[in-house]
Amino acid sequence: MKKVTVLLALMLCGVAHAQDKVQVSSLELAKHLYMIKGAGGNIAAVVGPEGALVVDSQYEHMAPQIKAELESKQAGVQIKTLVNTHFHGDHVNGNAALASGAQIIAHTNVLTRLKADAKFPVAGLPTETFVGEKPLRLNGVDLHLVTMPVSHTDGDLVVWFKEANVLHMGDLFFADRFPFIDLKSGGSVAGYISNVKLLLSQIDDKTRLVPGHGDLMDKAGLQRFLTMMEQTLSEVNALKAQGKTEDQIVAQGLSAQWKSWSWNFITEERWIRTLFQA
Ligand SMILES: [Zn+2]
Repeated sequence: MKKVTVLLALMLCGVAHAQDKVQVSSLELAKHLYMIKGAGGNIAAVVGPEGALVVDSQYEHMAPQIKAELESKQAGVQIKTLVNTHFHGDHVNGNAALASGAQIIAHTNVLTRLKADAKFPVAGLPTETFVGEKPLRLNGVDLHLVTMPVSHTDGDLVVWFKEANVLHMGDLFFADRFPFIDLKSGGSVAGYISNVKLLLSQIDDKTRLVPGHGDLMDKAGLQRFLTMMEQTLSEVNALKAQGKTEDQIVAQGLSAQWKSWSWNFITEERWIRTLFQA
């Protein structure tokens, strides 16, 4: 019995320890506007005397640390509005823990997908959905939510902070790494590339970009990301045109210049298999 208790305690310590390793940090982008990094998708937050508006919620276990980070900017602050950029767990699993009772806004398809997941807490479901554009304002910061045609999933939106010249791209941008394109949830390689091109045409050299994953980026970083996608797609298409199968292309690999874009979640193999479906 004692052995079991000790083992259990060790296991619990392991879990707590793994979670403790992630430190939440924030970067001030403009007055009342912050980028918050932790575990999961990057957060943008508008925090001030009128309350907080948060874009994406990471994981349930991150909620206390995220709340503490918000309170370090404004004592006792309450989250009034939570926006979800899309339905993936690393962006929405903290919804209920972070923003139960608050307004939760997302693309209409996000609610459809989360409702279909019996394990997703009802308190974390979007309370307001839309397709198109939605302006919001809090603490003197203007935001503009814009849903995007199918790309990462079939329910993506981006958040413009026009005056601050900041754009939160959700998972339409993975900084300097191969992106995940969720083809099983309505995503599309062609749609992803075309949305990145569109957003690139709408920003300038001073725009700061909050990617879904990775560090704060600029226009040059997004251009680099687009170039990688276009060139790796044409490499795969050229091999396909030579009659090579998906597995043969995986075995051959992409050209060496793209090695550094591979990471534990989207390896070169997974990226090639995604491109092969395009
Ligand atoms: Zn995602």
